[in-house]
Amino acid sequence: MLALSLAAVFIAACQPVPTAPKAPTSPTTTTTAPTPTTTVPKPATTRVTCPSGATVEIATSIATSVRNLLAAAQADGRSLCGGGYRSPDAQIALRKQNCGTTYYAIWEMPSGQCSPPTAIPGTSMHEKGLAIDFTNCSTRTTACYLWLAANASRFGLINLPSEPWHWSTNGR
Ligand SMILES: [Zn+2]
Repeated sequence: MLALSLAAVFIAACQPVPTAPKAPTSPTTTTTAPTPTTTVPKPATTRVTCPSGATVEIATSIATSVRNLLAAAQADGRSLCGGGYRSPDAQIALRKQNCGTTYYAIWEMPSGQCSPPTAIPGTSMHEKGLAIDFTNCSTRTTACYLWLAANASRFGLINLPSEPWHWSTNGR
């Protein structure tokens, strides 16, 4: 009886003590770093209708210019359209698709190392609604590019040399 009691006490004493909450581990790799958030405020945007009936969402501040550009291109027999405004989340998704899914690939890798080149989230003119990626404009020999090269500056759009399809208010 005594032996049993002692054994019971011994067993009770040997119950594992509750472990203290794990101290947060200091980030030793980039994968544990906090996810940055971009600080680009959502611009006021407008959907401009292209000749095809599709729409391109761009900053309201350049909607009239873009509308006029599309109309001028159409008058010259060029039906242009493309992708404009992109939310920060969409920019992150695009980095994952074009650059890779690691922290480095999403947030730090130079744009030019992605395929196709894709700006670091928070730095794209698309996130301000001030850039358009024109469809069917992938090279400098396309009808789209040639028309834009001859005319887009009249409407305030400048090409990013590394991307024939990308036109923005500052060329970036
Ligand atoms: Zn672009």
